Parts: sequence; structure tokens; C-alpha cells
Amino acid sequence: MQEKMHLKCHPGTNPKPFKAKIVNIEDNYLMFDNSYCFPRGGGQPGDIGTIILGELEKEFHETLPGEYIKHPIDSVDQFKIGDNIKCIIDKENRNRNAKMHTTQHIVSALANDLFGAETIGNQIGTEFTRIDLKFQDKNKFNIEDLESSFNDILSTNAPVNVYDWDRNTILSHNKMRHTNFLDRIPSSIEKLRVVEIVDIDLCPCGGTHVKNINILDDLKINRVKSKGSGKLRISY
Ligand SMILES: [Zn+2]
Repeated sequence: MQEKMHLKCHPGTNPKPFKAKIVNIEDNYLMFDNSYCFPRGGGQPGDIGTIILGELEKEFHETLPGEYIKHPIDSVDQFKIGDNIKCIIDKENRNRNAKMHTTQHIVSALANDLFGAETIGNQIGTEFTRIDLKFQDKNKFNIEDLESSFNDILSTNAPVNVYDWDRNTILSHNKMRHTNFLDRIPSSIEKLRVVEIVDIDLCPCGGTHVKNINILDDLKINRVKSKGSGKLRISY
């Protein structure tokens, strides 16, 4: 599996252009010897951007995970294996996703701390993001408490840190959240990326995040929908 270079980049905002060589072309996907693109995963959409080959500029659609990160383009006809390209990740799109995703960490942490809710799914979007929450008692949920707690937290200027920790350190940490999925990650992967929003959240995560929560926008919940017994889907 190709090393995911975006994991080594924190903060995950304002990604730099990078050079790479095309190592494979399959269907309408270009694969490079290295890529700093975030491939779709964990509820976060993949990067979009532009691939430049000489005079040729082609937009690529949402990058997808695989043995090699897949960069989909409308037509691969003008590309061949061995070409040296330059890849420009759409910064505005990445920055929106990083902000929305970091916001999701805080909302999930607050929903847990305030209402005892577990996050069971999420879909990040540049305009709206939704989080599925599971409650013991969903009557405890209160939009105003969630929004005001979130907006209060932004003023703490909490930094966002990233660590590479082994499984034992992660599983034995008493503040660690969301470790249920660790058994789905192959045991050959010894170190995992852990994201900390200081004093707010700590969990394994491979997404892209901001450097400090003070650049996040205030939380405005625009929709709450019942998803069956004990479950709510909230959107912001
Ligand atoms: Zn994350």
C-alpha cells in the first residue's frame, strides 16, 4: 500500500503543490509514485484539484483510496506511465473540509460529554456536515446547549496536535475516544495517528485538521432528524 503522505502533513490546511511520476493508469484513474492528496475516507471527501503536464492542465475529481491513491480525470488519453506531472490540490476545498472535519471532532466530543451520545457515523461536506448520534436517552439532546458549548470552546484557542502512537498506548489511554474500529486496521500497522484537540478530544484519526480551533466558524445546527430509536442525525 502506498504511503499516505497527507498523514505526515499537519495542519492539513493549505496543502502545497507537489511533483510526481505517473506509475499506473487504470480506467479513468491516474496513480502517482507519491501523492499528498487526501483520499475519501472516514466520512471525509477526497481532495480535488488540477494535474499539470507541460501545457496540459486537467482537473481531477475526488481522490479515492486504493493500493495507490486514485486521481480520477475525465479522459486519461493524454497521459502515459512515466510522465512527470505537477499536482495542485484545491486549497479552498481542502481547507473547508479540514474545518468541517475538526468541527466534527468537537461536536462529537461535546455530544458525548453533554448528552452521553456516541457518534456512529458522519459525512463531511464543504457546505453541510452531518453526524449520526446514538443516545441512551435522546430527550437529553439540546441544540442550544450544544451550540453555546461549542462556541464557548472556540475561545479557548485549543491547538490541534497529531501523534503516532502504538496500539497499547492508544487502548490504555483513559481519555481516548473512538477506539472500536481499531480491530479493523491490519495488525501489521503498528503505529496509528492520534489527533488531540487539547482538553477537548483525543482519538485515532487519519483525516485533515486545522492547526488551532480559533479559525473555526461558530456552530449553527440547521437540522435534527430522528433516525429511529435512540438515534438522531444532526447537520451543521
Ligand atoms: Zn479527524
